[in-house]
Amino acid sequence: EAKRQRDGEPKRFCAVLEQKLEEDITLERELRLAIDSGALSLHLQPQVGAQHEVIGAEALVRWHHPQKGMISPGRFIPIAEHTGLILPLGAWVLKEGCRLLGEWQHDTRLRDLKLSLNVSVRQFQQPDFVEQVTTTLRATGAPPERLTLELTESLLMSDPEGTIDKMQRLRQLGIRFALDDFGTGYSSLAYLKSLPLDTLKIDIAFVKDLTLDMQATPIAATIIALAESLGLDVIAEGVETADQSTVLARLGCHVYQGYFFSKPAPAAEFARLNSDSSPTAS
Ligand code: C2E
Ligand code: MG
Ligand code: MG
Ligand code: MG
Repeated sequence: EAKRQRDGEPKRFCAVLEQKLEEDITLERELRLAIDSGALSLHLQPQVGAQHEVIGAEALVRWHHPQKGMISPGRFIPIAEHTGLILPLGAWVLKEGCRLLGEWQHDTRLRDLKLSLNVSVRQFQQPDFVEQVTTTLRATGAPPERLTLELTESLLMSDPEGTIDKMQRLRQLGIRFALDDFGTGYSSLAYLKSLPLDTLKIDIAFVKDLTLDMQATPIAATIIALAESLGLDVIAEGVETADQSTVLARLGCHVYQGYFFSKPAPAAEFARLNSDSSPTAS
């Protein structure tokens, strides 16, 4: 469209930016209200093991906008990060996630499942983050050993020592850590070794590449080998086909997450499908 009228291009580009900015400002105002008004929810996506059995879930935040419908986190998390709204949003996710974990303790099947929460850099870097987590665990009765926090490589860039110290304090509570979207950032291998991590999550971008008739060694293979040599678990995200899970298994990755197994679903639905009272229990 912009290409059709060459002369107008710079101006049109400006107009597009302006509109985006305006939308951002509106969304920010609406998000501020949404956090306190019950418009957020957690959807859970199963994480499955070698036999494709559910071993846990990742919580993914959803925003139900009264007019615009469901807005994806890809759209509003960046706005939340720029504006600082990620702090109340992140606190809500932590509370809601721990509340679910606490609830699951009353069910003989759900109580064994793990729950992963995404934690943004700014949220993790709050001076009182460890206290926030401790308080929330206590208030909800969530077992810390069932809780995994997903961090991204960018966190490790800004304040490595502070990060390691905080991770160690949280680990002493029993919490585990996964490095999300691994391979898309820029962490040095030396540094990776010094981190108290439990799991690497292979980014969807490297899972997409996998085919059964593969000739070249894929990046996923390198990440799996790296995890093994560092003594870390590895999870593949974005598994969409049986072939991808077969290749991953062959490469030595035995925990998977992706549409092939299940899309993220409302927490209540996940609990229903995986509870001891579920008729479809496997
Ligand atoms: P992520 O943590 O890497 O989450 C994985 C994303 O991949 C999710 O997108 C999930 O729905 C999607 N996904 C899962 N399986 C497949 C698949 O087979 N194919 C494809 N194409 N996609 C798949 P979603 O829910 O839109 O979340 C996007 C990102 O937003 C997350 O990436 C995470 O960085 C951020 N996010 C989501 N929830 C939270 C939260 O509670 N707090 C923070 N700080 N960030 C969050
Ligand atoms: Mg994640
Ligand atoms: Mg990810
Ligand atoms: Mg991602």
